Amino acid sequence: MEKTQRAFSQAIKEGRKNLTETEAKAVCMDYGIPVTRSELAENEEEALKLAEKIGFPVVLKIVSPDIIHKSDVGGVIVNLKNAKEVGNAYKQILSNVKKHDANAKIVGMLVQEMAPASTEVIVGSIKDPQFGPALMFGLGGVFVEVLKDVTFRIAPVNEEEAHEMIEEVKAYPLLKGYRGSPPADINAIVKIILATSKLVMEHEEIKELDLNPIMVYEKGAKAADARIILE
Ligand code: ADP
Ligand code: MG
Repeated sequence: MEKTQRAFSQAIKEGRKNLTETEAKAVCMDYGIPVTRSELAENEEEALKLAEKIGFPVVLKIVSPDIIHKSDVGGVIVNLKNAKEVGNAYKQILSNVKKHDANAKIVGMLVQEMAPASTEVIVGSIKDPQFGPALMFGLGGVFVEVLKDVTFRIAPVNEEEAHEMIEEVKAYPLLKGYRGSPPADINAIVKIILATSKLVMEHEEIKELDLNPIMVYEKGAKAADARIILE
């Protein structure tokens, strides 16, 4: 749990409540939650080198303690297929972010493995003032944002409850496989819910947590984004 402690102390030292994606993903790794591979570039040249190292296509994402919702400010560009696209995206993201907030502190850019398209789900946690941390599950995109098709349990949850959470959302049939699309790896989601439950139970200082999206495949699942906000 060394990465978790380091991430929390770094944020606290800098007087921040929100962990960066890198820090939140380090915490995830401590708890065995699979995340997309990514490395921090501090300039465009480094971004190009890292993209070669990670392998195309890649995703570029702004890393700034002042930006919580990265895509809202044009801070994420996906599916960059070559060095030229990475270079252009780097400049574009910087300009987007500066336009939004000229004073935003910019740490650099995450160069990230592009996860193949899949069914996207969300696992989250919020703190209920009375009952403590609660876990949330839903399918990503419109299912959460428009249809509010999500389910909650007070933490800790056990394996059976994690299965129940997944089965009780209306969009569950999409995970089971439909019209020839293969079934998603439900057990991989269960593992992530259980790991998240353990994480929030062991760290009362977590106010909010959001793994959004988690890409779920026929075999395995991977968080492409992670957000943690401390009390
Ligand atoms: P934020 O939620 O802060 O706006 P995300 O990191 O979630 O930023 O990125 C926005 C969207 O970009 C995601 O919802 C997802 O659809 C896509 N995305 C992000 N990272 C990846 C990745 N590694 N592979 C594929 N798609 C990604
Ligand atoms: Mg996200």
